[in-house]
Amino acid sequence: MICRQKSEQLFAEALKCIPGGVNSPVRAFRAVGGQPFFACKAKGASVWDVDGNRYVDYVGTWGPAILGHAEPSIIKAVQVAAESGTSFGIPNPSEVTMAKLICSWVPSVQKVRMCNSGTEATMSAIRLARGFTKRDKIIKFDGCYHGHHDSLLVKAGSGALTFGHPDSAGVPAAFTQHTIVLPYNDVDAVRAAFAANKGQIAGIIVEPVPGNAGLYLPRPGYLEALSQITREDGALLIFDEVMTGFRLAKGGAQERFGITPDLSCFGKVIGGGLPVGAFGGRAEIMDCLAPLGPVYQAGTLSGNPVAMAAGIAALSRLEETGAYASLEAIGAELEAGLRDAARQAGVPVQFNRCGSMFCGYFTSSPVHNLDDAMKSDRERFKKYFHGMLEEGVYLAPSQFEAGFISTAHGPEEIGQTVRAAAKVMKSL
Ligand SMILES: *Cc1c(COP(=O)(O)O)cnc(C)c1O
Repeated sequence: MICRQKSEQLFAEALKCIPGGVNSPVRAFRAVGGQPFFACKAKGASVWDVDGNRYVDYVGTWGPAILGHAEPSIIKAVQVAAESGTSFGIPNPSEVTMAKLICSWVPSVQKVRMCNSGTEATMSAIRLARGFTKRDKIIKFDGCYHGHHDSLLVKAGSGALTFGHPDSAGVPAAFTQHTIVLPYNDVDAVRAAFAANKGQIAGIIVEPVPGNAGLYLPRPGYLEALSQITREDGALLIFDEVMTGFRLAKGGAQERFGITPDLSCFGKVIGGGLPVGAFGGRAEIMDCLAPLGPVYQAGTLSGNPVAMAAGIAALSRLEETGAYASLEAIGAELEAGLRDAARQAGVPVQFNRCGSMFCGYFTSSPVHNLDDAMKSDRERFKKYFHGMLEEGVYLAPSQFEAGFISTAHGPEEIGQTVRAAAKVMKSL
């Protein structure tokens, strides 16, 4: 057994002064049992815990670490920026550089506003969609996560067209009554919702490739249908690319699938590991934001110079290194190795992958939506997770999270992961 004595001590102290010992619930390992380790260093594809154990990391700080941890050009950019002041509260040149970069990488974005998290980005995009269309209702999909703000914190209603029930205590039902929750990958459900709510739906918000219930892909034609239905009704299509943006391609999922959404939300990769979010889209819509228009949105630290420097460095590095082609190749290699390990062990696994995002579900039937994902054997996943951790491979501590590959994952890391999986799968 790997020794995690110092982590255990820290967790005991943390439990006394931080709710559940963590500052974000998924870190608490509740879904897999046991206790989290405490990290003190991360470099490349590796993370080290306070007891000195090293793990090959597929969490990648939940998405941002696409270039691996502590990428030298990002560290340098942060140091240089911090020397000149950590926050100004008045425009700074890096905000313009960042906005130009986003607009050139993502053609559907003509104007962009920076904020501090993915949650802020989706919250503001929803408000903007409502302000622009002068409609209240929003469609979201089962299993899609858009951050922790009130109106989108709703999971599955029972069956299509049910109005949302809040997913959390402390969210008044009135706050989610305008949220319609539908199954993902079901065009008929969307058509029916629009037919039943003519002229009332402000927009659809969707993770184009949902990565918050594991990972599943849009069926051919699905995203196109969302685009067409919203356009015909005068509603907006909002792509939540907080996870997929700048990860699945330079232009995110929308580039990969050839869709032009009205608004897009970003976070994770664009912060280079610092807290950043952004939302943008058609100029005509974005100009409804204050100070030009009536939709209010603001942020004391928005466009922060240190965060902008980190993000700009990350995007520049992705471009210079031709990262997307290598991520695809590493992803394919990992997929082939893990599929093989499962086959040899005779363990049924559905391996879904899109570029550098992946999820292996322990089930024998294909996974296209949340209901399919729920069929996976979570007890088996728990054993697999802890077995892999013992072998020095850190996967996200839940069956319902995507794994992330970075450009720092090389043949050595992939080899270690595949050998570990082959061993652990046989013991399941
Ligand atoms: C992570 C995530 C968010 C929330 O971003 P935070 O920075 O954690 O607030 C929103 N949408 C998607 C798709 C995400 O993956």
